[in-house]
Amino acid sequence: MKKYYVIALVAIVAILVLLIGNIKGKYDGYVQEVSKQIDKSLDIAMEEEMGIRQKSIRLNDLEGPIFGIRLHLTTQDVVDSIMNLPQVKDGTYRVDIVDGRKERAEGIPELEITRMHNQDRYIKHQIYIDLPVLDSIFCYWLKADIPHLFTLLDHDTIQIKSYGDVGIKKGNYTKLKRVGLHEKQTLKVQASIPVEDFVRAEVIPLLLSFLLMLLALACVLIQLTVIRRKELELKQREMATGGIIHDLRGPVTTAISIVESLQEGQTDEGMKAIESRNEVMLRHVLHEIETLGDTIREERMQTTIHRKPTDLVALAETVRREVDVVFQSKHHTIIIDNQLPQDKKLMLDADKVERILRNLVENAVKYADAGVEVRVRLAWQNNMPVVSVQDNGWGIAPQHLKKIFKQYYRIEQPSGRHRNGHGMGLTNVQHLVKAHGGKIWVQSHPGKGSTFSFTLA
Ligand code: ADP
Repeated sequence: MKKYYVIALVAIVAILVLLIGNIKGKYDGYVQEVSKQIDKSLDIAMEEEMGIRQKSIRLNDLEGPIFGIRLHLTTQDVVDSIMNLPQVKDGTYRVDIVDGRKERAEGIPELEITRMHNQDRYIKHQIYIDLPVLDSIFCYWLKADIPHLFTLLDHDTIQIKSYGDVGIKKGNYTKLKRVGLHEKQTLKVQASIPVEDFVRAEVIPLLLSFLLMLLALACVLIQLTVIRRKELELKQREMATGGIIHDLRGPVTTAISIVESLQEGQTDEGMKAIESRNEVMLRHVLHEIETLGDTIREERMQTTIHRKPTDLVALAETVRREVDVVFQSKHHTIIIDNQLPQDKKLMLDADKVERILRNLVENAVKYADAGVEVRVRLAWQNNMPVVSVQDNGWGIAPQHLKKIFKQYYRIEQPSGRHRNGHGMGLTNVQHLVKAHGGKIWVQSHPGKGSTFSFTLA
């Protein structure tokens, strides 16, 4: 499997895991929020139901008049209430004393303890919570349609009665509420918090965004596949072009040899000149073929340098002669300025250096008006040859200087200055110079001319 498919798959799984984690977190938060709402409605409902019961069945009627309820929450309360006990006359009044210290320690509020005590008193007379009343108050405060079931239990096991949606089996909310203080009863509340609202509000938008993300990813993958296919096609085309270039090189080289041998046997000076021009033109074609071949190879292969003793001056002279022929219709002057130490033996790849020179000298004549003067300076600096090709042509604007070595980069010339080309020459020149262990640089002033210099290690 291709690397980017694996990356895409990992990305999808990661997004999915994140999404599920996100939904789970949001769902827990939603359940918690609704549970709090149920708790609150339940507290209010229990209190109000108790109030209704107190109005209809008065405890005093059942138990006789009561002097008051003393709630003991701390030990000091116990002492205080005993000290302040009112004078009870003839047993007419009762004082109800409630020990709520344990419940207080459990964090149950005072009001709740009093209510639980009152529940105790009702439980004693078997007047239990009125579940339908409790339910209607609960529904009123809840303000949401949540299926629920109330079950009143003796302690927390024996069912006394129940009311609500008996169908609830596995609700996601269960609460056990203690009813009495001493006469222990438990109210079990079960509810099934519906997930539809949550799905509508949270899951659908999240899923939609996930689908959008998948769509974007699919688009990227399709693009990648297209690019990959194009890359393969390009590779095949490059290989085919490489083959054609290789096939072309053979016949052109043979033609050059034939023209060379024809020249040797030629006595007619006029014919000799024609054949010499033909040879130069053929060499120019070969040079173009080599440049094309280098462009294709460049990124894939290292150019190998075959060094042999080379006469750099003779090489420059050959290039001058050839460029003179190619640009015979344009008036120009090429001067070879040899500053090399005499008898300096240079170990160079003559073919490649010739191609470098030819490219630079051709450009110097090409990107200039008629009458251009090109100076090829051959010097010896820092123990290595330095070659510069200087012209007084159009020059290059500073913003193009760094880019001209990039493949296929050409400077748009004003009308009347259009020259044929493909933007491959300088890229190859730079590549060949580097392969020789040298470096290349350019200085130029628009309207004044350019100087391309390079070293050869
Ligand atoms: P090509 O000549 O095929 O366009 P090159 O890579 O040789 O490709 O050159 C790139 C660009 O650099 C050219 O289009 C030209 O505008 C500019 N250039 C190169 N040499 C010179 C020069 N001596 N003077 C002015 N411009 C030049």
